[in-house]
Amino acid sequence: MLMESTTASFDALNLSDPICRAVQSEKYTNPTPIQHQAIPHLLQGRDLLGCAQTGTGKTAAFALPILHLLSENPSASGSKSPRALVLTPTRELALQISDSFRVYGRHLKLKQALVFGGVSLKPQINTLKRGVDIVIATPGRLIDLYQQRHLRLDNIKVLVLDEADRMLDMGFLPDIKKIYAMTPKDRQSMLFSATLPDEILRLTKNFLNDPVRVSVNPPASTVEKIDQRVLFVDRENKGALLESVLQDESIEKALIFARTKHGANKIVKNLSRARIKADAIHGNKSQSARMEALQKFRAGKVQVLVATDIASRGLDVDGITHVINYELPNEAESYVHRVGRTARAGAVGVALSFCDAGEKGYLRQIEKTINRVVNVVDDHPYHSESIAAKRVSGIGAGKKFNGRRNGGHSAAGSSGKPGKNQNRKKFFSAKPGKRTRFKSRTPRTAVSA
Ligand code: AMP
Repeated sequence: MLMESTTASFDALNLSDPICRAVQSEKYTNPTPIQHQAIPHLLQGRDLLGCAQTGTGKTAAFALPILHLLSENPSASGSKSPRALVLTPTRELALQISDSFRVYGRHLKLKQALVFGGVSLKPQINTLKRGVDIVIATPGRLIDLYQQRHLRLDNIKVLVLDEADRMLDMGFLPDIKKIYAMTPKDRQSMLFSATLPDEILRLTKNFLNDPVRVSVNPPASTVEKIDQRVLFVDRENKGALLESVLQDESIEKALIFARTKHGANKIVKNLSRARIKADAIHGNKSQSARMEALQKFRAGKVQVLVATDIASRGLDVDGITHVINYELPNEAESYVHRVGRTARAGAVGVALSFCDAGEKGYLRQIEKTINRVVNVVDDHPYHSESIAAKRVSGIGAGKKFNGRRNGGHSAAGSSGKPGKNQNRKKFFSAKPGKRTRFKSRTPRTAVSA
């Protein structure tokens, strides 16, 4: 994962010496933007709302100040009741966070417990019995242990809710509310989320007290490198357009984004009818089903993965040649996260966005955020000239476009009806010269006009 850092130094953050030494051993030279922005406020005890995804260094952004605060203020009651609680949606993430706490806290005497379901209770109970300072937990198992009185939460000084959007997507909201109610009101609270839908903002109102807000996107340079294009299409033609686009020979590994879980399933179903192998990952799938789908996608056994925003969080798959926004996200931040899944490790990637009449406003917001105009592809078989004609750019004051002016491909232009096949085979290539065909389906002529 690309790691952006700042020119500030860790020394300036005034973290204690044992923590600075641990950070040095990790060869971190400078804080990442989220660490630079968040740590000073967290050390002052402020609440924080962090908009960031995995890969930005957000774990250290909360773990370092927590370790500092706990070690500088020893507990009056020993470590019998934990003082810091980190809630995460999945056991994988819990393990990752626990490793980070161990690494950053290696020169400190703080103890931690890892609490998640699907494994025996006994070892977790034993660890808690010995006394811990920090608990890293998934919500369900934490509540179990609390109700069985193996854990007290009345001494919690710091509470972190990580990947809050994914938590909500996985149905953890009632559990989270229960856990909040079990902890003292005067705790310091942090909430991290890659996106900030209304539901999260509502939650922050009850959960956070006058929070500092910090927000980081994947490095802008990543987004600039991506060849971004928009295809105007009537909603009812999106399925056919997708099938058509996926015939393109340059598409080796495509990640398709749908707005809802139901939508993702429907895309997979339609593609399988068209004999295109695809899998979906979203919040309604079990952890093991998601892991399996991801594994197959990584290994190249499935060329198409359909995901919702939340399920794709932290997804780090090399070689995604194309990101396809089957539906545009209603938040520009999500667009940046989505397209950042391609063009990794110096590769050139392509992001194609299907935009129907109802999504033009989203496109405008996206262009404002990325500060560039997305090129139009207008010679595909389902091009809608009527949508293209009414396009207003997010850049400049109300600038109108016709599809062909800004780098779009020429030709076609239609009323939304499929056009004539011009036998185009590598329309969406970002890497000239390399020809790869999908092996799993019968060849057909498609992306064309
Ligand atoms: P995270 O976003 O917390 O999952 O972190 C992503 C990766 O960035 C992890 O492998 C961290 O070890 C690494 N990392 C965190 N902070 C820094 C830093 N300041 N400099 C370099 N790498 C870092």
